[in-house]
Amino acid sequence: MKIRRNYNLAKLNTFGISANARFFVELNKEVDLRELFNVPEFKNNQKLFLGGGSNVLFTKDFDGLVVLNKLKGIEILKEDSKSVVIRCMGGEIWHDLVIFATERGYWGIENLSFIPGTVGAAPMQNIGAYGAELANVLTNVEAYNLENGKENEKKIFNKEECELGYRDSIFKNRLKGKYFITAITITLSKIENKNITYKILQEYLEKNKIEVKNSKDISDAVTFIRKTKLPDPIIIGNAGSFFKNVFVELATLEKLQKTYPEIPHFNEEGIVKIPAGWFIEQCGWKGKRIENVGVHEKHALVLVNYGGATGKEILVLVNKIIADIKEKFDLELTPEVNLIS
Ligand SMILES: Cc1cc2nc3c(=O)[nH]c(=O)nc-3n(C[C@H](O)[C@H](O)[C@H](O)COP(=O)(O)OP(=O)(O)OC[C@H]3O[C@@H](n4cnc5c(N)ncnc54)[C@H](O)[C@@H]3O)c2cc1C
Repeated sequence: MKIRRNYNLAKLNTFGISANARFFVELNKEVDLRELFNVPEFKNNQKLFLGGGSNVLFTKDFDGLVVLNKLKGIEILKEDSKSVVIRCMGGEIWHDLVIFATERGYWGIENLSFIPGTVGAAPMQNIGAYGAELANVLTNVEAYNLENGKENEKKIFNKEECELGYRDSIFKNRLKGKYFITAITITLSKIENKNITYKILQEYLEKNKIEVKNSKDISDAVTFIRKTKLPDPIIIGNAGSFFKNVFVELATLEKLQKTYPEIPHFNEEGIVKIPAGWFIEQCGWKGKRIENVGVHEKHALVLVNYGGATGKEILVLVNKIIADIKEKFDLELTPEVNLIS
């Protein structure tokens, strides 16, 4: 196990922020964890487990140990005529798991195609897109306790214990930084189970006269839409949606509608969801650039690094946006991206 010092993370986060990790190590095998837990660099420092770096903002150098998760492997644990149970190691690329499933005709994660990042990070924020989320298929999560004195034992969290919510889980919340997710198990359907009610997806299928025959058809459609709609981090540094959408009570919506009758909203069992991007646009931030950073011209939710930006510059922008929305709407925007300091 080779621990490096002052390791630059610019290529390991999709924002392309040039932050250094005081210590850095790549983890390729689960058995190596035992050794890792005992090295002084692990014992005496704060730790950050990193996957694809597509949901992090390094606000400064990381004064601790960064562990890059490269644990690989996908296996079918059991199957019958109706369903299949798949265990996947956390360092696998999420979209590779989608390909594994759709090539075999399994249903359940095709709407989550082309979400960047690793399998191990997927439960962190209960990844979701195009009318689906990980919670629909998750069976359990294997994770090691990182707290001192707990002998770093492995725990299997069943789905309920993961406390999955909208872009949220126990791992992003109550147990933040306390567990390293090594593997997840999901249960997929072998019986056709298509979910094409999401408006953009439905419109795309109709417009292109695509008749969905298998889960791969949906995966291909979602991948195509995502490629054309979202900015590619290789071309322009970003971490997808920077903020979570806003959930308000009906009374708050009604109040807002008096001034903004066209406010977009979705009613979800008595709670109203308002796209965070709408608030950002209303405050005039869409397409705005401040030196190296800015808000994407087509996506108000996507903050971008035009090149050479520091994490601090992006953080300043984040705080300005939050403050403006607080002042204009008296609402608090919450970052979806994990701020690392
Ligand atoms: C262009 C773009 C589009 C995106 N679209 C979507 C979308 O549609 N839906 C969506 O939900 N997300 C989306 N995201 C966000 C991102 O892809 C997901 O959050 C993804 O799950 C992050 O995976 P990662 O491996 O890159 O995590 P990282 O960024 O490496 O890590 C994210 C957080 O999880 C922690 N972490 C990572 N791995 C582990 C582990 N094994 N154990 C414990 N903690 C861990 C890290 O410490 C960090 O706090 C998008 C991002 C981009 C750049």
